[in-house]
Amino acid sequence: MTITLPELPYGKGDLAPHITEKTIDFHYGKHHKTYVTNLVKLIEGTELENEALENIIKKTVGDKAKAGIFNNAAQVWNHTFYWHSMKPNGGGSPTGQIAEKIKADFGSYEKFVEEFKNAGLTQFGSGWAWLVLKDNKLQVTKTANADTPLAHGLKPLLTADVWEHAYYLDYQNKRADYLDVFIKNLINWDFANSLL
Ligand code: MN
Repeated sequence: MTITLPELPYGKGDLAPHITEKTIDFHYGKHHKTYVTNLVKLIEGTELENEALENIIKKTVGDKAKAGIFNNAAQVWNHTFYWHSMKPNGGGSPTGQIAEKIKADFGSYEKFVEEFKNAGLTQFGSGWAWLVLKDNKLQVTKTANADTPLAHGLKPLLTADVWEHAYYLDYQNKRADYLDVFIKNLINWDFANSLL
């Protein structure tokens, strides 16, 4: 299996004005692409060369000698998952099964918003905020750098990239503003529902 850069699920300018085409150009066209290029080089000629991306992540997590492979593989996976976590005209209150589950597991949509935003804001430095399923219960969590819940037995349903490269061109240092917009205007609840 060759690791390649997956196509975006929408056009580069389709999330504007919330996330501009310029940001997507750099974030997808440079950052995400570079993780793919690096990973392909790192696994070339190794026993991981023909493994699926998810297996590479699970087989290298916690292995210091393979940290480079894990970091690039996890970043490839996280970014693809992030692109699908958003859609044009997304965000706002969820519908469908995820809406019921958010109410059951968090108490209310507002409580979920508070926890998700807090996870993104309190991730010191680079990382990710997540909505995951753990033992069939929804949970908000955060990971540092390239780390991913996928590597720790959790089922991711949504993610927000909180590396500065995700928002700096559009929001500069204002991570809170970017997270507000992500929640209000971008979340792809259809995607989360499809994974439940
Ligand atoms: Mn990123």
